[in-house]
Amino acid sequence: VDPGQPILLFYSLKLSPVGGDIFTRFRAIMPAMSQALEILQQRFGYSQFRPPQQAIIDSVIEGRDCMVIMPTGGGKSLCYQIPALARPGVAVIISPLIALMQNQVDALEQQGIGAAFLNSSLSHSEQYQVEQNLAEGRVDLLYVAPERLTSPSFIGLLQSLPLALFAIDEAHCVSQWGHDFRADYLQLAPVLSRFAEVPRIALTATADADTRREILARLELRQPEQFICGFDRPNIQYRISQKSDPKKQLLKFLANEHPEDAGIVYCLSRRKVEDMALWLEQQGFTALPYHAGLSQSLRQQNQDRFLREEGVIIVATIAFGMGIDKPDVRFVAHLDLPKSLEAYYQETGRAGRDGHAATAWMIYGLQDVIKLRQMAADSSASEQFKRQEQHRLGAMLGLCEVISCRRQVLLGYFGEDLAEPCGNCDNCLNPPQTWDGTEAARKALSCVFRSGQRFGVSHLVDILLGKSTDKIIQFNHQQLSTFGIGTELNGAQWRSVFRQLVAQGYLNVDTEGYGGLQLAQKCRPLLQGQQSLALRKDDKPPAKTKREAGAKPELASKDEPLWQALRELRRNLALEQDLPPYMIFHDATLMEMIRWQPATLAELSRISGVGERKLELYGQAFLDCLCQHYQNQDPAQPEQDRETLLQTLQLARSGQDAEAIASSRGLKADTVYSHFERLIGEGQLALAEAVAINEAEISQLQATMLEAEASAEGLRLKPIFEAFEGLYNYGQLRCVRADLQLEKGEE
Ligand code: ADP
Ligand code: ZN
Repeated sequence: VDPGQPILLFYSLKLSPVGGDIFTRFRAIMPAMSQALEILQQRFGYSQFRPPQQAIIDSVIEGRDCMVIMPTGGGKSLCYQIPALARPGVAVIISPLIALMQNQVDALEQQGIGAAFLNSSLSHSEQYQVEQNLAEGRVDLLYVAPERLTSPSFIGLLQSLPLALFAIDEAHCVSQWGHDFRADYLQLAPVLSRFAEVPRIALTATADADTRREILARLELRQPEQFICGFDRPNIQYRISQKSDPKKQLLKFLANEHPEDAGIVYCLSRRKVEDMALWLEQQGFTALPYHAGLSQSLRQQNQDRFLREEGVIIVATIAFGMGIDKPDVRFVAHLDLPKSLEAYYQETGRAGRDGHAATAWMIYGLQDVIKLRQMAADSSASEQFKRQEQHRLGAMLGLCEVISCRRQVLLGYFGEDLAEPCGNCDNCLNPPQTWDGTEAARKALSCVFRSGQRFGVSHLVDILLGKSTDKIIQFNHQQLSTFGIGTELNGAQWRSVFRQLVAQGYLNVDTEGYGGLQLAQKCRPLLQGQQSLALRKDDKPPAKTKREAGAKPELASKDEPLWQALRELRRNLALEQDLPPYMIFHDATLMEMIRWQPATLAELSRISGVGERKLELYGQAFLDCLCQHYQNQDPAQPEQDRETLLQTLQLARSGQDAEAIASSRGLKADTVYSHFERLIGEGQLALAEAVAINEAEISQLQATMLEAEASAEGLRLKPIFEAFEGLYNYGQLRCVRADLQLEKGEE
């Protein structure tokens, strides 16, 4: 039963990277705005709310209770931080993640906001200092652990203060059935009820319908508004492939796509974690291990370095990650299969919280499937538990083997429909091929049956291939009718058949741990010829996706030196204050600086992520860095020139074509096309925004250009113009060419 009168609001969260926000420029001329928006802009330096934030914040400011379910990286913190500033009094934030409180307080102080925390890590005198600051009204946000809230002395302290709100973070911890259950969360409601007039806002990223009901009931939310946002994380690219040589595969992935990025590599065992971290170090990466077997202090130290240094890779068991709110984790790599889609989604969700492109990359193989099937079938557990585990694992394996859009499967599992394939997963980018595996599956299954349903894959494959190994001779298996009937496939292909049969539940794995395969009920119609089976081809054509999600797709190669200079400045500022660099400015903010090239403090203040306080602290240093760079680098691009380019850019982004821009600006169309050409070359304008030519035609044009380029003639536009009989004008051709060159530059 739902307590209260829930108003269900569904939002689909589309995080656009802050970098794409052109309206930032117009901020200064916007009309009178709400108090919340003013706080967002002045204190946090962001120009707009993401859609659900505004509604949530408004209702908390009005004093209503709310429940907010929003994916990681969606921007939950602002939902209580802004009301905390807008309402009089202290906001109390209850969070189980003690280790992160310091971090959150540091980040707020960077924005010039009075914040503090109280937990067991503080000494008596530090605690006293916090209480003093509270009493003197210097604290707007107070972070506390749940157990603190129930202590009588703390309740006394709260009663002496004006309170703005209670925020209950990680609210799913209240669920006794969930894996993060905290008994202290059950004690919260009685305390909260002593402060009847103070609104409560409960927030979490993970909550199915049952958990949501528990949150509403156990935190005794009063006629709450519910904000349930879509789970999609469109900036994360999901990729899953076959495991062949894990180290080599991982190295290739890192070297090609994330050479300098921070990321997390997950492995199942501690030994493998240690081994991988060491090996990555030897390959020249900064890689640190993290698992429950390491001392508390070493774990803390490695986690700190991950947060504070740039480009650190953490190699971890699943013990790592809860509550890590590092915004610029660019990849999450799984070297072993997680046990469930819940786990997979939570772990991959740690990538790309800043809304920029990030990769969720995983490799898996037959042994993973067998091992997990075995664990799920472990005979010591209850029948119901086993069924549940099998079901979870089935869904996980389903995701691995699916040949359609992975995001549709993932979101579907969480009850959300994605109408169209996403276009940003490996299956969408590079559709896998299938083959009719009916005959092969039958051979494999009957081989399992004839050999007595107790042998593992290697032996079964040897039988099918007709090999005379010791084991085959020992068991007299060359006498089997299935001996040597499978020579049309090689060993790897047979292993792929077996993997898919196990993954799809046609074969069971023994529970004794020997990896013996047994027929499952499900395989009957297949064996009796009533069903056919399409299997996935493993050896895909080499990935030639158009533009893979790299770390910084927006950055043109000529901007690299400036990017490095800005990062170095940020690093030094961070070091001076012992803060993680992202607390100075996010990558997205640095990227905007490169794009907009601000020349004054006023211009800099319009960039997303530059609030009043940070402008004061760091503005001049960054301006100096930018100016110095332009003086050295770019005498050919005077300021005025930039201004006219920007105007063209804004108009193009608003949907006008070259002719329309030319006539509204009183320029020649040719001039506008030359702006387009430059903007495309700098990676600021997408080709699709510049010219109305469909993708198929563009591919054709670019293919023709590549051909021309390779010929003795070289790439001249006239022959291309003529080849297409004037269908495209020279301006359009120049745009297409600029895009082609940009892409080549990025390869
Ligand atoms: P969550 O707690 O939901 O995982 P956070 O509150 O940590 O997410 O926010 C994720 C990131 O998005 C942070 O880096 C935050 O600064 C940024 N962010 C949140 N709201 C906005 C906004 N309106 N505009 C720009 N960036 C935002
Ligand atoms: Zn997809």
